[in-house]
Amino acid sequence: MIRFCRRCVMPETKPDLFIDLAGICSACRNFESRDTVDWDGRKADLLRVLARYRATDGRNYDCIVPVSGGKDSHFQVLRMLELGLHPLCVTATTDHLSPVGRRNLDNLQRLGVDHVEVTTNPRVRRRINRLALTQVGDISWPEHVTIFTIPVRMAVQFNVPLIVWGENPQNEYGGPGAAAGDNVLTRRWLEEFGGLLGLRVSDLAGQDGIEPRHLVQYTYPTDEELRRVGVTGIFLGYYMPWDGYGNALYAQAHGFETHPTTVEGSLVPYENLDNLQTGIHDYFKFLKYGFGRATDLACMHVRRGRLSREDAVRLVQMHDGKFPWTYLGTSLEEILKPLALTVDEFVRVCDRFTNKKLFVCDARGTLVKDRTGSLARINDDNP
Ligand SMILES: [Zn+2]
Repeated sequence: MIRFCRRCVMPETKPDLFIDLAGICSACRNFESRDTVDWDGRKADLLRVLARYRATDGRNYDCIVPVSGGKDSHFQVLRMLELGLHPLCVTATTDHLSPVGRRNLDNLQRLGVDHVEVTTNPRVRRRINRLALTQVGDISWPEHVTIFTIPVRMAVQFNVPLIVWGENPQNEYGGPGAAAGDNVLTRRWLEEFGGLLGLRVSDLAGQDGIEPRHLVQYTYPTDEELRRVGVTGIFLGYYMPWDGYGNALYAQAHGFETHPTTVEGSLVPYENLDNLQTGIHDYFKFLKYGFGRATDLACMHVRRGRLSREDAVRLVQMHDGKFPWTYLGTSLEEILKPLALTVDEFVRVCDRFTNKKLFVCDARGTLVKDRTGSLARINDDNP
């Protein structure tokens, strides 16, 4: 039996999630506490922080804004511009940039900002994607590293101490209480919560022809460099109540492009549009923990009163954890080709990382799949 939160639809198998005696999960409890936050006070705090870091002589950037080009990036950049700041936008190129992701990055520049895009050697990147997929079951591992290391490296290089991140993922998703209260991003946070799964960057050197010189952009600056520039990071989501859907509406009104249909494995057309490997990433989360992106989205909308729990259960059954035959309309075969993996080889990797306790197996302990190759979650009725 998998236990689910009685308010949202999150299963207790989510790492770092706790379900209390009343049957309510820590993410829902964190969300509740938003009501007691003094948001006006936080806004004033934000203005104080920004004023402290603003480039005094007007000859440098006021802050770095890490941007993927998505709805949240648009929102962050728009807020900084509205507050009169002069940001440098920094993109760590995704694992497999989609055409719509490219167009959204172009749109972001048109908001009126300088923009640096750092792309790591794609030949090496494909090898790291493959290693990470087969060794820790996370194809997006290199992306999760570079989205944190590259903006910090740029902060050091451009001598811009303040980095304005979007949301602290631990806030909405309910990590340990102490972490959710944090409003700054540190190396310790990255190592603990950045999703590195025990694989370290230094472990890559020597594997599949990867050398230390290939890993420059995957490496966090030294403490000495960080101290010299005085690098500090803040989460905007700490200072203003964060809502992905609201951010999407705001971004769309500024030219942000959504997908023409609901994204595969998701419930919505407005997020995770920039990396074609995302479908694989989310599918592995489903195989390991029994929930996917549809569950995450359903929970966020249930908490905000936009979806009933009953409807959320139904939508999750419809959309979550389907075998990722396509993503943003591109076939799995196409997406795997740069990794030199066939669909059959991919399926074998999937089976290796599937938590059999969460899925229906036959009498011999073999996973039961339907004719589309999808698994059945046990107690999928989510009582
Ligand atoms: Zn919940």
